[in-house]
Amino acid sequence: MTKSFIPPAKPIIGDEEREAVDRVLRSGMVAQGPEVAAFEGEFADVMVQGRASVAVNSGTSGLHLGLLAAGVGPGDEVIVPSFTFAATANSVALTGATPVFVDIEPEQFTIDPTAVEAAITSRTKAVMPVHLYGHPARMVELMALAEKYELDLYEDAAQAHGAELDGERVGTFGRFGMFSLYPTKNMTSGEGGMVTCDSDEFVRRVKLFRNQGMEAQYRNEVIGLNNRMTDIHAAIGRVQLTKVDAWTATRQRNAAFLDKNLEGVIVPAVAARAVHVYHQYTIRVPEGRDAFVTALKEEHQVGSGVYYPVPNHRLPSLAHFADGLDLPETEKAAGEVLSLPVHPSLSQEDLERIVNAVNTVAKAGA
Ligand SMILES: *Cc1c(COP(=O)(O)O)cnc(C)c1O
Repeated sequence: MTKSFIPPAKPIIGDEEREAVDRVLRSGMVAQGPEVAAFEGEFADVMVQGRASVAVNSGTSGLHLGLLAAGVGPGDEVIVPSFTFAATANSVALTGATPVFVDIEPEQFTIDPTAVEAAITSRTKAVMPVHLYGHPARMVELMALAEKYELDLYEDAAQAHGAELDGERVGTFGRFGMFSLYPTKNMTSGEGGMVTCDSDEFVRRVKLFRNQGMEAQYRNEVIGLNNRMTDIHAAIGRVQLTKVDAWTATRQRNAAFLDKNLEGVIVPAVAARAVHVYHQYTIRVPEGRDAFVTALKEEHQVGSGVYYPVPNHRLPSLAHFADGLDLPETEKAAGEVLSLPVHPSLSQEDLERIVNAVNTVAKAGA
């Protein structure tokens, strides 16, 4: 009997989402309107302890507009991890500022505060950690550095809806935070992003950049973009927001099962006082990672992913910001990480198949 393939990610989109889209389509008003406004208010309440939230058309736009609203531009340096999706550094570079890549710590793969401190110069404007795989970055240490050196702190929370540190939600620590609503993230609006921020003036500025620099029509105050979310996308996001907590709990249960049963690989470590939301369940395979991925897929029909095989500082598009840079923990992680399916659509049988597959492949390679 051939087994069905277990995909590494699977967006859950059901009847309620379809009905919500239909409601918007039938209304005849599909661009940014009341659904977006409602989504922003609900997201603020559910996800970030009431912090103001502004919806945009992608997570990348959210980072870009957050940086513009914070006044980041040419001459500024923003310290970022290299071990992340390229959107983190792309958004910095698009403002005309310089992304400064630093290494990660080896436990949770997030930006290393010691490396951050060593990279601070007179041009450093901000630090932008990534809550990678759904685990919060080391915000306590980073907040202390931001205060000591009078730097801004921004959060790339694209993968971390609902993650917490010391009982506080990610997206509430920095001057602004960004959540992606892309289909493979923990919740989706189709495409979309949410910027969370700490003041009415910041909200106003993000909204200006979102809409051609206009608050009042045809009175453009700054040079802006069109990065608005549509009411169609907001309607999907509003439904997903009512479900994301339950999906997160399922991800956490799936992760606990994998933690308990996997053998011969290094399972994810959760920091003290942190809540991990397992956007990815990422193990380390110290030897032969690529052959491991192939064996899972071909011998066991188990999908997996490598996030990210090429660190940002070695990408053709970004390498010119990193001349001669050596980031050993980043390189090591890029060669060892492997993300297993952990998404809420997995059945108990799927989980057992994943465990059996990983343990069998690990044993064969040992
Ligand atoms: C997905 C992602 C983004 C970008 O979000 P989009 O909605 O795809 O534009 C940014 N940073 C990280 C870490 C991401 O995973």
